[in-house]
Amino acid sequence: MSLLELDQVTKRYGAETLALDSITFSVQPGEFVAIIGPSGAGKSTLLRSINRLIDITSGDIRFDGVSVPQLRGQALRHHRTQIGMIFQHYNLVNRLSVIENVLHGRLGYKNTLQGMLGLYSEQEKREAVRILETLGLSEQMYKRCDQLSGGQKQRVGIARALVQQPKMLLCDEPIASLDPSSAKVIMDTLQEINRSTGITVLVNLHQVDVALHYAERIIGVNRGRVIYDGPPHALSNAQ
Ligand code: ADP
Ligand code: ADP
Repeated sequence: MSLLELDQVTKRYGAETLALDSITFSVQPGEFVAIIGPSGAGKSTLLRSINRLIDITSGDIRFDGVSVPQLRGQALRHHRTQIGMIFQHYNLVNRLSVIENVLHGRLGYKNTLQGMLGLYSEQEKREAVRILETLGLSEQMYKRCDQLSGGQKQRVGIARALVQQPKMLLCDEPIASLDPSSAKVIMDTLQEINRSTGITVLVNLHQVDVALHYAERIIGVNRGRVIYDGPPHALSNAQ
């Protein structure tokens, strides 16, 4: 069964903007997919629709067989914990430490009061420490996030997503604010996570060369429509 199915997904912002225009595709468990396209193509809207940060106008999105537009309450919170979001601007809480940001992500959707009070179980803390160590952030664990470099901040963003034990990572331009060497570390990290854990990765990228290098499958989007869906080598040949 597909992990994710989009069926004629359409999103309008107001009357003028058709951000997504009848998008249909499926993603199998374990795939590493890059979504490419120019600024304004609809990539960010597409990712945000999948975990319901925004509501679509028509069509259907099914995740693990469940229709996402129908989800309410606890079922919606559960859906969001199954999807780790990674953002261009990291979306960390700067005044909190690295480990607090990661633990907060774990509790983020299901127990905010507990999270705000900093009540984490020993097991949750151990798991957060383990993930931060694998991402090379042992030294940074108790630093405030605003003392980190961009590449380190993005690794915290990845740790925060992983601690929820998601089935899928949705990465919205994860390297657009990074220098080339930090960008390579982040893309290598996403690839390693995909290969070693089988977590499905969907990543928005505007750098075509990076997408061609890392992704097994490229979905090209322009003006809210899918204009290419296939392996990277066929796209290289078509250029
Ligand atoms: P991309 O991520 O490919 O740059 P977006 O999904 O951000 O594209 O945007 C797709 C289109 O929708 C653009 O025309 C953008 O201006 C518009 N758009 C995005 N978010 C909003 C919003 N909240 N309100 C109105 N228009 C929006
Ligand atoms: P980021 O790069 O951090 O994702 P964006 O500039 O893409 O930030 O968008 C920031 C916010 O503005 C998003 O919530 C997006 O939906 C909204 N937005 C983007 N384009 C438009 C638009 N044309 N009109 C209104 N809101 C928009």
